[in-house]
Amino acid sequence: MTITFLGTAAANGFPEAFCKCPNCAEARTLGGPSLRKRSAALINNDLLIDLGPDIMSASHIHGCSLDEVRYCLQTHPHADHLDLSHLLSRSPAYGVVGAHVLDFYASRETLERAAETFERDLAGYGFLSPEAEKYLNFKIHRIQPLESFAVGTYSVMAFPANHGTQPRCSNRRGRLSGTTRCDSML
Ligand SMILES: [Zn+2]
Ligand SMILES: [Zn+2]
Repeated sequence: MTITFLGTAAANGFPEAFCKCPNCAEARTLGGPSLRKRSAALINNDLLIDLGPDIMSASHIHGCSLDEVRYCLQTHPHADHLDLSHLLSRSPAYGVVGAHVLDFYASRETLERAAETFERDLAGYGFLSPEAEKYLNFKIHRIQPLESFAVGTYSVMAFPANHGTQPRCSNRRGRLSGTTRCDSML
């Protein structure tokens, strides 16, 4: 198994672009791994954990194509973990060639929150319809906490977690935590 961390930082990334503190200044000087993007991870080349806002730049910088990604486990709907514009930009309508249908796994709460944001900010329609799945080249899977399910050859179980104002689900794959930083997620 290969795990590629596409981002390991909190919501503002590190260094914080607006910050003059010594730590941020040193990180800018050091560069390389001291520059941390917002959280996401790639398992092998086909399983993405979080459709995060920095996955496109991480792909560019690290020479890590996402063109074999078939599955996405979405830990929760916060903006630093979920950039819904990727659903549009990876669609055939944007000229993307050969992208696999994306099987998108998320809790009911995450899907409801994401659907509101997507309709309000991005497309004018919700993505919880069969038409949206076809247009966006993806398929939605609602997951339940503490129920094991198969994702391709992977076995996954989601755990409820307290994070933000509502309970969320984090994804756990075997002994691998699907989240990297949220303090109360497993
Ligand atoms: Zn700072
Ligand atoms: Zn969060």
